[in-house]
Amino acid sequence: MGLKVYIDGKLVEQEQAAVSVFDHGLLYGDGIFEGIRAYNGTIFKADEHIKRLYNSAKAIMLRIPMEPEEFKKAMYDTMAANNLSDAYIRVVVTRGPGDLGLDPRKCPTPSIIIITADIQLYPEEFYRKGLDIVTVSTRRVNSSALSPRIKSCNYLNNIMAKLEGIRAGCVEALMLNSRGEVAECTGDNIFIVDGGVLSTPPLDAGILGGITRDVVIKIARGESMPVRESPLTVYELYVADECFLTGSAAEIVPVVCIDGRQIGDGTPGKTTLQLLAKFRQLTSEG
Ligand code: PMP
Repeated sequence: MGLKVYIDGKLVEQEQAAVSVFDHGLLYGDGIFEGIRAYNGTIFKADEHIKRLYNSAKAIMLRIPMEPEEFKKAMYDTMAANNLSDAYIRVVVTRGPGDLGLDPRKCPTPSIIIITADIQLYPEEFYRKGLDIVTVSTRRVNSSALSPRIKSCNYLNNIMAKLEGIRAGCVEALMLNSRGEVAECTGDNIFIVDGGVLSTPPLDAGILGGITRDVVIKIARGESMPVRESPLTVYELYVADECFLTGSAAEIVPVVCIDGRQIGDGTPGKTTLQLLAKFRQLTSEG
């Protein structure tokens, strides 16, 4: 029996889980999504992800025809239908089928998709050795054109950056904003530790408000560690003691080299590993 996918209120076999070629999610990337993890049967930060989903929907004037609590239940039902307790959950809400024009008013019914799958963990080596990343020339889209706070199905900006990263032999790529400040990676937020201070770009650097980012900030503050959300330059990254990335899939992954500059002693930092241990403690508690 294959994977069961939730689509428009029904759980169907993955082969039958399809959207119309007239869906504006496909035609224009007109939609929003979330990437979520479940640990031991509990969806990690479910309310925060649902809040971000509904906020993304609001920002693009898309009404999700379901209450947030119902949405949460649908995620749990989809996990249960697939007998999953540790899972990666991909939620997608598109504008739905319309005609070939841009006009969202021609799309009366949004498509709601929930895919729950076995989590494909990053190789253990990433955590043990740390990542080598590069700064790419593709800038993070300017907030005045499209807010990076909206987790939209329009990810070409990030994909263009990812392509550059892949060409340089890196699994992640660092994007700057239009002011030349550090923004974020293609699918992860970025942090440094320098002189005992944890720093990360502020939301107004034009980044996604990562949920893992929030959790890490809270863990650090709980440990009485000074935390700064302030603009960062690549120079500050190069000379930092430690660097790491955060994301629902990656959790906390150390970075040991940026643009050929070794970070710290070239191995995952002590504070990074302590934060990762605390983070894993939280996810195992549910
Ligand atoms: N930035 C971008 C561009 C992302 O796509 C993601 C992954 N959703 C993140 C940051 C990390 O966000 P989160 O911790 O909520 O997964």
